[in-house]
Amino acid sequence: MNILVAGGAGYIGSHTCVALLQSGHSVVVADNFSNSSHETIVAVQHLTGRKLTFYEADVTDAAAVESIFLQHRFDGVIHFAGFKAVGESVEKPLAYYRNNVLSTVVLTEACRRHGVSRFVFSSSATVYGDNRSPLLETLPLLPTTNPYGETKVISERILTDVAKTDSSFAVALLRYFNPVGAHESGLLGEKPKGTPNNLMPYIVQVARGQRDCLPVFGGDYPTVDGTGVRDYIHVMDLAEGHIAALSSLKAGVHVVNLGTGKGTSVLQLVKAFEAVNGVRVPYEVVGRRPGDLAECYAGVGKAERDLGWTAKRSLAEMCRDSWRAERSL
Ligand code: NAD
Ligand code: UDP
Repeated sequence: MNILVAGGAGYIGSHTCVALLQSGHSVVVADNFSNSSHETIVAVQHLTGRKLTFYEADVTDAAAVESIFLQHRFDGVIHFAGFKAVGESVEKPLAYYRNNVLSTVVLTEACRRHGVSRFVFSSSATVYGDNRSPLLETLPLLPTTNPYGETKVISERILTDVAKTDSSFAVALLRYFNPVGAHESGLLGEKPKGTPNNLMPYIVQVARGQRDCLPVFGGDYPTVDGTGVRDYIHVMDLAEGHIAALSSLKAGVHVVNLGTGKGTSVLQLVKAFEAVNGVRVPYEVVGRRPGDLAECYAGVGKAERDLGWTAKRSLAEMCRDSWRAERSL
C-alpha cells in the first residue's frame, strides 16, 4: 500500500514509518516539524535502507494537503499529526483545538475528495476519562479533564460521523496506552523539548544525571505500592499495531485499544529500569498530580480478535531501548 503518514517525523510516527517500510509499504510523510526534525526522516531511511517521500507541510493547511494528494495515489492515511502535552492544552486550548481537530477535518476532506477509504487515527486512552480499568472499547466515553483529551474525543466523533455518510469509509480509532521505548537500533527515540511531562523520558534524564531526582506524583493511591499504575507499551509494538490495523481494515468504524493489558506502577518501572540498565534513578514521592488516575490499563481482547495483534516486547525491553536511544541519539 501507499500510505500518507501525517506527523510521520514524530516519536510514534517515525517508528511506524520503519514498520511500514519494513513490511514493504510505500510511505509519504507530511510533517511541519513543530515537534520533530528532519534528522528523524534521515534515520528512518538509513535504518530501513528504503526511501520515503517527505513534505514539510502543515496538515491543517487545506491547500498544502490538496497539493500532496494531487501528486500521489494513496491507499490509506495514518494521522499522527497533533499536539500532545496535556498541561499545555489547558494553557492554550485554542491552539490544541485548532491543530488537533482541524488536521482531522482537513485530512478527512482530502480523503473524501480523492476516494481514499482507509483512515487510521491516533487516539488515546485519555478518552475513557475515569472509567475503571481494564478499559474496554465498549465503555461509554466520559468527559476528559483537559482540552487535549477533548480533541481526541471530537476527532473520533468526526470520523465516526463521516463513516455514517459513506459505507465504504474504513476508520480505525486506535487508543494508545503509554508508549515508551525506542527502535532497538538506538537511532530513533523520543526527545522531549524542555522538562518531560511523561514518566519514562523523566526517568532517562535522571539516570543520565541531567536531573537530580524523579518526582513520584503520589504515594497513596489504592494500588500495589501506592504509586500510579499505567499500561506501558513498547513503541515498536505500537507501530506494528498500525500495520495490523491497516491490513485488516474493513468499511466502518473500528475502535481498538493498543496496550499490553498489564499495569505497572511508577516504582515498578523505576526498579525495572535500574535493574536492566545498571543505573540509579533517585526518586522522591511528592503530592499527586492534578487530574491523574490511580490506574489505567487496557482490555486487549479486541486487538487480538480483530487485528490478530498483541504486544510482544517486555517491560525490560522497553527500559533497555529507552536507555539505549538516550545514549546514542
Ligand atoms: P510527536 O509530537 O512526537 O509527533 C507528532 C508529529 O506531528 C510531530 O512530528 C509534529 O511535528 C507533527 N505535527 C504536529 N502538528 C502538525 C501539523 N499541523 N501538521 C504537520 N505535522 C504536525 O507525538 P507522538 O508521541 O508521536 O504522538 C503521535 C500521536 O499519537 C499524537 O496525535 C498524539 O496525540 C497521539 N498519542 C500519543 C501518546 C503518547 O504518549 N506519545 C499517547 C496517546 C496518543
Ligand atoms: N509520573 C510521575 N512523575 C513524573 C511523571 C509521571 O510520578 O515526573 C507518574 C504519573 O503520575 C502517572 C505515571 O507516572 O502515574 C505515568 O505518567 P505519564 O505522564 O507518563 O502518563 P499518563 O499519566 O498521561 O498516563
